[in-house]
Amino acid sequence: MALLSTIDFPPVIKTSIKKGIGKTENFSHGRIDLHSHTHCSDGSLSPQTLIDRAVNYQITVLAITDHDTVAGFDIAQQYITAENIPIKLISGMEISTAWQGFEIHIVALNIDVNHKAIKQLIINQQQAREDRATAIGNKLTKCGFPNAYDDAKKMAAEGSITRAHFAKVLLQQGHVSTMQKAFDQYLGKKGRITQRAYVKPNWCSIDEAVKAIHAAGGTAVIAHPIRYDLTAKWLRRLIVHFKECLGDALEVSLPQMNPQQRQTMLNYCTEYDLHASMGSDFHQPNKWSDLGRNLTLPDGAKPIWALWD
Ligand code: AMP
Ligand code: MN
Ligand code: MN
Ligand code: MN
Repeated sequence: MALLSTIDFPPVIKTSIKKGIGKTENFSHGRIDLHSHTHCSDGSLSPQTLIDRAVNYQITVLAITDHDTVAGFDIAQQYITAENIPIKLISGMEISTAWQGFEIHIVALNIDVNHKAIKQLIINQQQAREDRATAIGNKLTKCGFPNAYDDAKKMAAEGSITRAHFAKVLLQQGHVSTMQKAFDQYLGKKGRITQRAYVKPNWCSIDEAVKAIHAAGGTAVIAHPIRYDLTAKWLRRLIVHFKECLGDALEVSLPQMNPQQRQTMLNYCTEYDLHASMGSDFHQPNKWSDLGRNLTLPDGAKPIWALWD
């Protein structure tokens, strides 16, 4: 169901609406999107522009989940308050973790962004990002692109530097014809095969991420479980490990997922007693997906916001 009845919403949201953030009818007819990016990491829009876009797409509950930073939250919240915009903003962050040689993304939702565990995690992750970016830059220099690091750094500005910035630089300078090719030829890793400018990152563990999220009062979600190229056996192992770490939810609905995939994720949720989240993983306007589009939780899913009472 894309449209959720008022009854499905956590009291925290209802209370905010009553306080004047938005109208109840607006909210109950709106869409929920719990995974999105701004230019505080590798998204193209500022937090304010993202909020404007969310309003236009009838989003009433939005989480900004930039990579290893919460910098967009205060900016977006101040804008929402100043302009009296009818959106409930959920604090969030997408944390890169290392598990069994895979890079697994854990989405933190509804956290205290000022909690010391989150602040420390961000410091460590940002250091890992800086170190990896420098090493990627050195490798790209050897590939014949000596300015890639400076250009990617400039593009990321004050935000989290990601491989997407390097990919965009390679694309803009005409070294590759698509972002995908930048990953396929230089930045990516598929199975054990690493490309020329791939650098193994020094991310935190899943356990460390979940612990920091819980310390800050939030919920931990495995982001886009279908995007790790895991076999069914390895995906199950990941979910078992996540559950052992006391993780809370799986992203059961992404725009690209078909009903069969959503059902498979729901089955894992049922089997391992996990809640369900959904989000577009919006980075920039494009033809294929947008904020809040094609997001539905299958019947029987326990919505993650039920944990936010
Ligand atoms: P990082 O967290 O620095 O490793 O950067 C990963 C980000 O790069 C992801 O969040 C995506 O936004 C982007 N990305 C990863 N793989 C691809 C790909 N094959 N094509 C385009 N963008 C990608
Ligand atoms: Mn990204
Ligand atoms: Mn991700
Ligand atoms: Mn994302």
